[in-house]
Amino acid sequence: MKIDFHVHTDRSVDGVHRPREMVKYARNVGLDAIAITDHNQLFPWNEARRLSKEFGIVVIPGIEGGNFALGKHWIAIGIRDRPVIKKICDLPKIIQDRSGLAIAPHPYTRLGYDNYADLGFKVVEAFNGTEPEASRKVCHTRGISEVTGSDSHAAPMLGFCWSVVDACETIEDILESVRKGFCISQGTRVPFSRCLHLYGVYFTNRILCRPASMLYSLYEMAQSPCKTEEGEIL
Ligand SMILES: [Zn+2]
Ligand SMILES: [Zn+2]
Repeated sequence: MKIDFHVHTDRSVDGVHRPREMVKYARNVGLDAIAITDHNQLFPWNEARRLSKEFGIVVIPGIEGGNFALGKHWIAIGIRDRPVIKKICDLPKIIQDRSGLAIAPHPYTRLGYDNYADLGFKVVEAFNGTEPEASRKVCHTRGISEVTGSDSHAAPMLGFCWSVVDACETIEDILESVRKGFCISQGTRVPFSRCLHLYGVYFTNRILCRPASMLYSLYEMAQSPCKTEEGEIL
């Protein structure tokens, strides 16, 4: 299966297209599954199931959390409730206990691969479609599985990179295959022109047409429900 493990919709303050548009586009560019990982918002399971049925691809509910001011992010997929954590090193076990998967996203420009490994993450986003170090890959060391996330914030950014996962078409089976390391990264970085497209659409789609929705996303993000009690992610 071709799977993109890191996708944003307009429920993120910096995303532009609705979940339905993202899933439809993902299907049209040949992806078999995507994880929707909006900032600080867990994608609802019933909505994911509905979209899966409508478009015939697997939609994995997820969330990207962390201390955004410090640029320290984490992703959790396949969980049913938003996690409350005290320290980032607690996160992998909390997510695992909920049958989900904790992923260290874009590790090069954030904490660094080794730091995430030290924190107990068993899965790292070895290939991120939109960051400068995206083409570098980590070695299969320390027993950490690699996944690919395009980090798309607009539909046309989808379909350039993905993980090939040896799994049946269920969320549980996909997560289990990733845990076992049955996945490889393929594709290229998202072209710069597609990233530029995002800014154009952002201006018309969010700032001009739907300022209220943008302000609401900003408010949600400011609430930062996934940060620690101390206000720090580490
Ligand atoms: Zn991030
Ligand atoms: Zn992201």
